[in-house]
Amino acid sequence: MGGRHAFTWTTQVQFVPSLETDLAVTSCGSGLVCRTLLGVRMIHRLIFLDMDGVLNSGRWMQSDGYPMRSPLYTVGHVDPAAIAALSRIIELTDASIVVSSSAWNAEQVWSVLKARGRVDLSLRIIGETATSWTGHDHHMRRGLNIQKWINGNPEISKRFVIIDDSSDMGHLRPWWVQTTWNEGLTETEADECVRRLTRKQ
Ligand SMILES: [Mg+2]
Repeated sequence: MGGRHAFTWTTQVQFVPSLETDLAVTSCGSGLVCRTLLGVRMIHRLIFLDMDGVLNSGRWMQSDGYPMRSPLYTVGHVDPAAIAALSRIIELTDASIVVSSSAWNAEQVWSVLKARGRVDLSLRIIGETATSWTGHDHHMRRGLNIQKWINGNPEISKRFVIIDDSSDMGHLRPWWVQTTWNEGLTETEADECVRRLTRKQ
């Protein structure tokens, strides 16, 4: 059993998430988490998941015949190819999802992922990060909100990747797997996520 790591705003990249840590989930911060975890699920690996530019993309929107940034996309259009790539990551790593989008909350993502993918991706969602940017440097605001979630959930945050097309990760940039707005999540980034989530440390 490993010990807890110190996640703070100032220690930055000094902590090393450990695959060996094997703590049971004993508490949860929201009803969504409770419903998902049922108090027994072990969380070893996490994906902080953005949506726009990850599960949808400029290429996908154009090919699907809808105008860019159509409101329709905010209520359910996600790219099946990106869903397949995310499914493969989860099949190979058993990772859980924390929604880290600034535009989508966990309930919205849950509704569009329900019964989607080779695994039911909605069942993997355990929470969402805050989306407040007030006072945050624009180069690190997403990273700060992810760090805030990690600080609040040290018992279930062990090893993680951040999948996002935006670069505002600040000190968490080493955990960032970059997608592009035009392509979204492809098998190339999925391979990188699997590699990072399963490598020995
Ligand atoms: Mg995005």
